[in-house]
Amino acid sequence: MSVKTGFICDESYFWHQTGNGALNIQSGGWVQADTHAENPESKRRVKNLLERSRFMDELQQISPREATRQEILINHSKEYINKIKELSDAGGGDAGVHAIVGPDSYEIALKSAGGVMTSVDAVMEEEVQNAYALVRPPGHHAEPAEGMGFCLFNNVAIAAKYAREKYGLKRIAILDWDVHHGNGTETAFENDSDVLFISVHQENIFPKDRGAITYTGKGDGEGYTVNIELPAGTGDEGYFYAFDQLIAPVFDQYAPELIFISAGQDASRFDPIGRMSVTAEGYFQMSKRIKKLAEKHSSNRIIACHEGGYSTAYVPFCTLRVIEALKGKRSQVDDPFDQGFHEGPIYPHQKEAVQRAIEVQRAYWDLK
Ligand SMILES: [Zn+2]
Repeated sequence: MSVKTGFICDESYFWHQTGNGALNIQSGGWVQADTHAENPESKRRVKNLLERSRFMDELQQISPREATRQEILINHSKEYINKIKELSDAGGGDAGVHAIVGPDSYEIALKSAGGVMTSVDAVMEEEVQNAYALVRPPGHHAEPAEGMGFCLFNNVAIAAKYAREKYGLKRIAILDWDVHHGNGTETAFENDSDVLFISVHQENIFPKDRGAITYTGKGDGEGYTVNIELPAGTGDEGYFYAFDQLIAPVFDQYAPELIFISAGQDASRFDPIGRMSVTAEGYFQMSKRIKKLAEKHSSNRIIACHEGGYSTAYVPFCTLRVIEALKGKRSQVDDPFDQGFHEGPIYPHQKEAVQRAIEVQRAYWDLK
């Protein structure tokens, strides 16, 4: 079913400067630095591809507003917000663990969070049914009082809290498929039953001490955190297995009124930082599954928010496929990296990893 899909982006998102680096190592080490892995290029090319393929004509372009400082306080401490502003005004620095701040990053990060909030309003007020927010800097690692993993303000956490407050939603689901664990978002909602958080990620990647399947939330939130750790090398079929056996049944039982996707396309098979093997078509099929769940439960409401993804050549194709699935229409673009054979079979140890997560979650959900 073709629906109205919003596209939220702003030129300033590409102006957040992360400086030089060798992949994610900042300059000054043993190897010559070029551009840091978290640079604008993979994101800007998403927009370029939408324009060049004319798929942008199928989307409703929506300008993001800036979040106010008060709105950021919904998820972050005053001291931390001040720290980002001070570093930004001083021309740059690090706001935590690999949380790079450049000149004007504070204002850009306000607009990044604001972009996801703008998406919430557009979807809740039925201007569009779903939306893709191509925002930057990303957010899912950002903790209440510490930046982490290229993330400054937690865009999805802020927007979900905003949606809960403004629209009185009782059940919001966040699916984080970035290859890294969405630790900041998990922290934001670990005590809450009105936000279900599901993270599917590569095991033992980043942050090292988070995302174990045995962690299921606490207090009122116990059972509303679902962690799925997949072994390095997992491809399309492994992800589909996790979707069909665990994610979809949990969504069906939770029946969310609004769905967020923390859409990091760094589980792609060309990502220089992740070690997974998802294809662009794999992203299409995962997104299609979420769209079906949204049709059933959330009046089609989905907000996909860009997180990681570092292959400048492949992230645009993967992200285009996500947007096509949201829209319910294919573009003219073929995946030029599709080599015509099935590249994502599932192996027994990958299946077992999903089974282990299912065993943990059986305490809370009815699962096969
Ligand atoms: Zn990531």
